Amino acid sequence: MGPPGAGKGTQAKVVAEHFGVPAISTGDIFRANVSRGTALGKKAQEYMDAGEYVPDEVTNLMVRARIDEPDAEPGFLLDGYPRTLSQVEELDGMIRHTGHELDAVVVLTVDPDEIVGRLLQRAEVEGRADDTEDVVRRRQEVYGEQTEPLIGVYRRRGIVHEIDGMGPVDEVTKRIFDALDVVPQS
Ligand code: AMP
Repeated sequence: MGPPGAGKGTQAKVVAEHFGVPAISTGDIFRANVSRGTALGKKAQEYMDAGEYVPDEVTNLMVRARIDEPDAEPGFLLDGYPRTLSQVEELDGMIRHTGHELDAVVVLTVDPDEIVGRLLQRAEVEGRADDTEDVVRRRQEVYGEQTEPLIGVYRRRGIVHEIDGMGPVDEVTKRIFDALDVVPQS
């Protein structure tokens, strides 16, 4: 977890690779559907372009289908899900059904002033439609209102690792591995 621009996607890939499990990014799945012009993409696009969350029913169904894929059987890392209280409850239900458990919630903390800069830079590199300045600001607001409160929910379960997300990518990765008590392969 962490606000847009905290580096979740980058770190998720490295951590998932270490554990040999898929990194499941709801944002990436939505973007792939938007670019393929699927029915799901058509439903998601207007929300994404406005910096709002895609409705829970749509997102939950998509995640449920994804974690039922065979590659997720040994485990998985979720990047960008859950983002609402309803998604937390839904995820609890899904993994009760699959027999998985939530081992850890990694929260990346960043300096809010740095984030807008990072996102605008990413807009140039990746050409994402949701990285314009207004939408970037709206996405931060939505995160604060709807997603930040979930950290408290998981903190009460004792599984939150809060990690300083500032600094070079590999330093942040090292902090995550240290917190998870993992020896990275070189
Ligand atoms: P991300 O790449 O994780 O920043 O996600 C990009 C956009 O996809 C978000 O701004 C939302 O519009 C949508 N999205 C991704 N994950 C979720 C989620 N768990 N719930 C609702 N909308 C989501």
